[in-house]
Amino acid sequence: MHKIKILDYLVSDFGSMDADFRTTIEGTVQNDSNIHIITLNMEHLNLAEKMPEFKKILTDAEFLIPDGESICLFARILAKQKIKKIAGIDLAEKLIDNYSRIAFLGAEKAVSDSLRNLLTIKYGSKSLNSEAGVFDLNSSKELLFEHGFYEKNQEESVIKRIVNFNPELLLVALGSPVQELLITKYRPLFKNTVMIGVGGSFDIFAGKLSRAPKLFIKLKLEWFFRILQEPKRLRRFVSNSKNFLLLLLKSFLHK
Ligand code: UDP
Repeated sequence: MHKIKILDYLVSDFGSMDADFRTTIEGTVQNDSNIHIITLNMEHLNLAEKMPEFKKILTDAEFLIPDGESICLFARILAKQKIKKIAGIDLAEKLIDNYSRIAFLGAEKAVSDSLRNLLTIKYGSKSLNSEAGVFDLNSSKELLFEHGFYEKNQEESVIKRIVNFNPELLLVALGSPVQELLITKYRPLFKNTVMIGVGGSFDIFAGKLSRAPKLFIKLKLEWFFRILQEPKRLRRFVSNSKNFLLLLLKSFLHK
């Protein structure tokens, strides 16, 4: 894995989905510290231009993974380097496979419940203490689920339950920038935890939304499929694309 500088950010290029993410990620862990992975897209770059707090979150994250053709384009034009897109949802799936004690925070309660059922079937059958949301799947995986539609005043108790669970991996599906702000706020409470914001991935895992068909992915049109599936995203996409192109142009002229 090597890092490529794009604007003020160091983006990690793992080269392919076959990379040994866990070994590389853990190679950077200092004593008891935790790790924030951000699956970077053009919306994040735009947000960072307007919000210094978010820019700091991007520069402080241990890993920025290029989750968008826009980031690959930036690398090609500004850094003259080819970088391989890693879809956030693929990375999330791989990490879930690789870790044993995992907390899932976010999405609607029904989505969170179906995800719990699906993963119980996928990884084992025995479930213990289901009231508390903790599953011990034949001792191979322990999973904790907290849905993402709690009141603001319940946030601390939700986080406390996750901290007590002491996850090796915490996936936060609350959308950007909420998930990155939440990880940054609470990361000092965790020890040796890999933390990653995964946007709408739980909706896809649970089958509420579909992943783009392979042809769309191959043609680099995954974003187009998302808009077809959720047309309300169009306005956000147009505004982000416009700001992104302006940022690209500005950065190119100042190079
Ligand atoms: N969500 C949540 N709590 C909220 C608002 C949103 O858990 O208060 C979840 C929502 O159900 C969805 C995810 O956050 O699963 C946001 O997904 P989206 O695709 O919008 O994220 P982004 O495009 O920002 O990555």
